[in-house]
Amino acid sequence: MKNINVSDSILKIPFVGPKQAEAFARLNIKTVEDLLSNLPRDIVDLTKTIEIQNLRLKINAKVAILAKVKSTSILKTPKRRMWIVNALLSDKSGSVEAIWFNQPYMRETLKQGSEFIFFGTVSFNQTGRKIILNNPEIFPKSQIYPIYAQTEGLTSKQILRVVKSALETGYKIEEFLDDNILQKYSLLNMQAATKSLHFPTTKENFQKAKERFIFNNLLNLILANLFLKNKNKNEKSYKIKVDQKFVENFVKSLPFKLTKDQNKVVAEILSDFQKPSPMNRLVQGDVGSGKTIVALIASLVAIQNNYQVAWMAPTEILANQHFETINKFLKLIKSKIKVGLITSATKKKSQPDGRPLAETAGLLIGTHALIQKDVKFKALALVIVDEQHRFGVNQRDELLQSTAATNQKIIPHFLSLSATPIPRSLAHVIFGNCDLSIIETKPIGRKQVKTYLIPEPKRNDAYRFIDERIKVGEQAFIICPLIENNQDEQNLIQESVKAVTKEINNLQKTALAKRKISMIHGKLKSKEKEEIMAKMQNKKIDVLVSTSVVEVGVDVKDATIMMIEDAENFGLSQLHQFRGRVGRSDLQSYCFLFCRNLENEKTKARLKAFVRSFDGFKLAEMDLKQRGPGALFSFEQSGFKGINPFWFENSKVLAASSLAANELIDDLDHNDFLKTKVLKLLETDHTE
Ligand code: ADP
Ligand code: MG
Repeated sequence: MKNINVSDSILKIPFVGPKQAEAFARLNIKTVEDLLSNLPRDIVDLTKTIEIQNLRLKINAKVAILAKVKSTSILKTPKRRMWIVNALLSDKSGSVEAIWFNQPYMRETLKQGSEFIFFGTVSFNQTGRKIILNNPEIFPKSQIYPIYAQTEGLTSKQILRVVKSALETGYKIEEFLDDNILQKYSLLNMQAATKSLHFPTTKENFQKAKERFIFNNLLNLILANLFLKNKNKNEKSYKIKVDQKFVENFVKSLPFKLTKDQNKVVAEILSDFQKPSPMNRLVQGDVGSGKTIVALIASLVAIQNNYQVAWMAPTEILANQHFETINKFLKLIKSKIKVGLITSATKKKSQPDGRPLAETAGLLIGTHALIQKDVKFKALALVIVDEQHRFGVNQRDELLQSTAATNQKIIPHFLSLSATPIPRSLAHVIFGNCDLSIIETKPIGRKQVKTYLIPEPKRNDAYRFIDERIKVGEQAFIICPLIENNQDEQNLIQESVKAVTKEINNLQKTALAKRKISMIHGKLKSKEKEEIMAKMQNKKIDVLVSTSVVEVGVDVKDATIMMIEDAENFGLSQLHQFRGRVGRSDLQSYCFLFCRNLENEKTKARLKAFVRSFDGFKLAEMDLKQRGPGALFSFEQSGFKGINPFWFENSKVLAASSLAANELIDDLDHNDFLKTKVLKLLETDHTE
């Protein structure tokens, strides 16, 4: 056989035709390598069969029996015209009937006298008197079988057959790591791992095989990050001089003292400004930890050097709000800095002299409208991205590219802010190309948001309580149930409008009926959203009913109550974000959770944990354990597409891959295989 290579299309494997290849493509399997590294979801262990006489002890369980086919029959139901295949199966201990619906071809497999493993559910027949085996799958041998994710027209069994066929064809699996690395991190070599992944002989060797493949994936990711980091070190950036006196004066003029961590992070950023290569720093700090002021100090220092700063927010509400707050802070120091706002609503606004904002403003705040091609900056030295996890890495690159063009490859400093605390172990893989700053201490004087899980019968008490708070001039948010429907965005928006409207109607029957109630959701025009948020800030609204659009960043000082419907549908990190919308002044604030599913012990325990904990990092750890990393942020947005949350489940592998990556990065140029992989990852998913 000549020139067969794992990078071949799967079409080269015998018996794989275009139609099947299409089905494989739906599972993201295009090459032989994709196929061989496709991790089974699970395995089924058919080495432990039970005797037919013991089936009655296993009603409703899925079991495997090793049995011979005694006889078969087939019939068509008169009414629903459905094929039913029946077989009498027997072993030494007895016999049992098996039934298959709508699989007439079964009869051909079930030759009289042949022996198979039958894997199915033990049930009662229609009369309820006889035990049968329902719809069992048939396997030729008692062994451990992998279960792959399936798709229409492609079953797990068919996938296994193709894997077998590929391996028989002689595809060679290359090892790309030295023996000493394999030994050090106790990894299977690629040949052994591939074999045990698809043809495991024990649970343990399947596990080891899976670990090797997950290790490979993580290794690639971390290497890609380290590669970017090294590359960034070689880029040129603007040198920003720091006038300490100026910084001190500004800080003194603030109505509060910076916290220890705020000071620390400011120092980290200002020290990055001194380096010849661009900063690429991620500030992680819980909601309300005061990231805005930190970023503002950095901005002012840059602007003082006659450079421009772009500040991106994920929503218009936030962009507007930053615009307002920042102007307020600047008034404190009687600053003459020109601040511009660019959102899709204000797009292409010019200054009175007719020049576009991007040319004249020192600080430009906006949504992703900021990165559109027609926005040309003059000397953009610092880019700030708020609520970083909402943006993709690609957007960052677009921004950098739109600015680099005018500036001969000088790359702006980059600062991202995130309120989603991501446990370090993860952050390092996902955001490993950034330096991390963490703000843990909260501004003093903040009262903890009192959090309660409220049983349904007490709902009206909650409304009355809210009414009391409104009487003394406070305000409330009510978050509507999350609508799980990500197939069609338009549909999703429609549904969310319905949910909000319904909630408002319900409120008419409560103690809040007389209060000024408004709603906000994704279907409103940006102008309308802006107006509503302004009204909320100016206390023209008592209760704001909202979909999850208020989740990030919104700052309304007198809002003291956050009520969340169907809280169980949200991740703990997300709930924590909602809770962070209140408690933003010295007023006592409250978070009320409602849940229609409290009989579920797990749900209850999860929400109870939320009631007790106010530590964003801890809640994130819990989310990570219970719902996987997918609950923390969308992997699509991490910049690397195709990351699978379950790669992060095994902390041992995570640690090993990280250590190995640090060992291998300096030698990347000598490992063609790895280098190609890393470059490919960067090229397809993570544009530089
Ligand atoms: P986040 O980190 O969630 O973006 P913000 O930057 O919006 O938080 O800050 C939340 C609130 O706390 C703002 O009103 C801000 O002015 C205020 N704040 C920030 N730092 C301090 C501090 N050191 N002491 C008191 N209040 C502060
Ligand atoms: Mg913020």
